[in-house]
Amino acid sequence: MSRKRTIPSKPRFAFAVRRAYEVLADIGATTLPIDPFRISEHYPEIHIVSYTELKEKTQCADPFEFDRRNAQNAFLATLMRRNSSDRIDGETHKYRGDKEYLVVYDDRIGSERRIRWTIAHELGHIFLGHFVEFTLTSFQRGASGEVRLGLTDEDYGVLEVEAHFFASAFLSPSAVIRKIHSCENAYGIMETCNISEDAAYKRLDELKRLPSGSYEIEGILNRNFYNYVWKLNNPDADMFDPSISLLPSQYEDYANYEHWAYIVASLGNHDKYKELSIALINSIAIYDEYDMLIITETETTKTLVDNHKEVILAALDKYGKTHIPRVSSLSTEALMLLS
Ligand SMILES: [Zn+2]
Repeated sequence: MSRKRTIPSKPRFAFAVRRAYEVLADIGATTLPIDPFRISEHYPEIHIVSYTELKEKTQCADPFEFDRRNAQNAFLATLMRRNSSDRIDGETHKYRGDKEYLVVYDDRIGSERRIRWTIAHELGHIFLGHFVEFTLTSFQRGASGEVRLGLTDEDYGVLEVEAHFFASAFLSPSAVIRKIHSCENAYGIMETCNISEDAAYKRLDELKRLPSGSYEIEGILNRNFYNYVWKLNNPDADMFDPSISLLPSQYEDYANYEHWAYIVASLGNHDKYKELSIALINSIAIYDEYDMLIITETETTKTLVDNHKEVILAALDKYGKTHIPRVSSLSTEALMLLS
């Protein structure tokens, strides 16, 4: 057996937040609230199951060897022995070496927000490597009477706080919510992120203290959530929506470039390209592997695009993480003439 790392003496806050952001980027999240149940679609090694479902399922042969370490009966017995004031909200087991995880949550709790938080917390233990790094086989989380499985109080406390940091950053990512106007109060955070009032108040308090832009991964979240945040903040704004059905057939396989508004806004952060950015507010971009077509409202803006092709390609690369060989342009004024 390889030697495992020792548990850190202090919770690794920055690490927990960064990992939460990385997972949000990995699963391609673009809106809030985050659905922790969908994690299995992107990480098939993580199985999330309710207490009720598991109880039913383990009566027959189990698809991922739940029985292997005889954990099945022990776990169910533990859950059933507890009464409502002393119960487990969730638990995670690791199986098949380091490859499979089973997150079990107590669906009898009846509070969706608490279940969502519980699952996010359990995912924290997984994504922060608590099982792999520290040779743990199971975590239980509950209102009281937690089972520590050979950990000291200090070690257990550190890992619990880390999982909490992860859950908070995963369900209410400050990189995103600090940009949403309605999240300037706890009620807005609670409703937008679908977390408890208590968690929302803590988040609001943290937002005032936490630095922003300290993680490189925040750029990806900014990009991915840009359209969602913008629409929330500008609910009545009209979107530029040219009739692309008028486009020549050579563009029929082009897809809408969803990060275009973010690129345009990013250009506006540079004094040099403010004029370009403002002109491009009424524009869209469609693309394939080799080419991006920027559709502007006017011929004047089209000319501006043509004069800034290199700048736009660089911005696509830097802010959009989109590598494209070339851009071309077309105005809706010209489109009308084509039709
Ligand atoms: Zn825990």
